[in-house]
Amino acid sequence: MANEIIAERSLLARLETQPRVRDFLAQAVATGRVSHAYLFLGAPGSGKLDAAWALAQQLICEDGGCGSCDACVRVARQTHPDVHYFAPESAVGYLIDQVRALLAEVSLSPIRSRRKVYIIDRAEQLRANTANALLKTLEEPPANVVFILLGPSADMILPTIVSRCQCVPFRTVPQTRSAELVERATGVSPERARMAVAVAGSPARAAEFLKSAERQEVRRAMLRQVDYLARADEADILTSIKDLMAVIKAPLDEVKSTQQAVLDRDSEYLTRGALKQLEDRFKRELSHRERSGIMEALACARSLLRDALLRLQGVDEPIVNEDVSEMVDRLCATATVAGVTAALDVVAQTERRLARNVTPQLALEVMLLDIRKALTCP
Ligand SMILES: [Zn+2]
Repeated sequence: MANEIIAERSLLARLETQPRVRDFLAQAVATGRVSHAYLFLGAPGSGKLDAAWALAQQLICEDGGCGSCDACVRVARQTHPDVHYFAPESAVGYLIDQVRALLAEVSLSPIRSRRKVYIIDRAEQLRANTANALLKTLEEPPANVVFILLGPSADMILPTIVSRCQCVPFRTVPQTRSAELVERATGVSPERARMAVAVAGSPARAAEFLKSAERQEVRRAMLRQVDYLARADEADILTSIKDLMAVIKAPLDEVKSTQQAVLDRDSEYLTRGALKQLEDRFKRELSHRERSGIMEALACARSLLRDALLRLQGVDEPIVNEDVSEMVDRLCATATVAGVTAALDVVAQTERRLARNVTPQLALEVMLLDIRKALTCP
């Protein structure tokens, strides 16, 4: 029954790994029984964030998520001015200033739509003072505002937050199942589907990755970079990292021009304060996207190192980077199990450093030089 109310082109239709969540959300929107605050709970890769954007699309579109109107397209590209995404901006979690900015924004009218949606990622990092600032608004937000919070499990999130939200549990999806779905949805080979899931996480994001020439170029550039490490000197590596950063930042150009168009259009009727807030939000959005681009590049490096480890340990499992198996062979020819394991640790450390707001380029430089050290002199 729910299938009849889900438009084929909508983001919600792509939530194949979570049919119960998909049908539940579709019903809520179709019957107008939308909660003011949802808490999506599930492990990484379960598609919570995809579901959040999908629900946002259903709520923002005049047609309940047709998938093809201007509003739907903007939400799908994550450039709709009434859908706000927040993630912690410091190592210790959300900053009180971040939450204050969010609260100030909540009271403003929507820009293009009748509603506003706030996606709050990693809600487990809302602690004491930041959570308290949010509680009242979470309990009684303005009528046109919907909050979608995301977290790993209810016991990792403050009970005062959990009790104010409608909890939506997501089931854990194995990578092989995700790869099968990607294969079916996009028609790519099993090897490419497996690679895309390893890099992008959920099936929806893997399918997006396979459609994006720019993101696939980031992967190729990152893999070339890791492949090149053992053969290059430090000066060459630092030069090539600049090129890598340029490739990672290339997808931001479209976002920047969309943002500029919104600013140009709205500058006439927004107050200076509101304009400043919009600019600040756009800046945060850009830095978030740059960071996600780097995280994806890191996932590419990790997948290559994991493949090398599988081969070195003689594990009889297909590798993820089948299309560049010569790179895996080259790594295996010179590196040891201990060296590759140490290099994988370096990638994990870098992920933590990036979450702590270290400058991306610096983090990348340190990581690649440390990987080189690990691979060449274990
Ligand atoms: Zn629409």
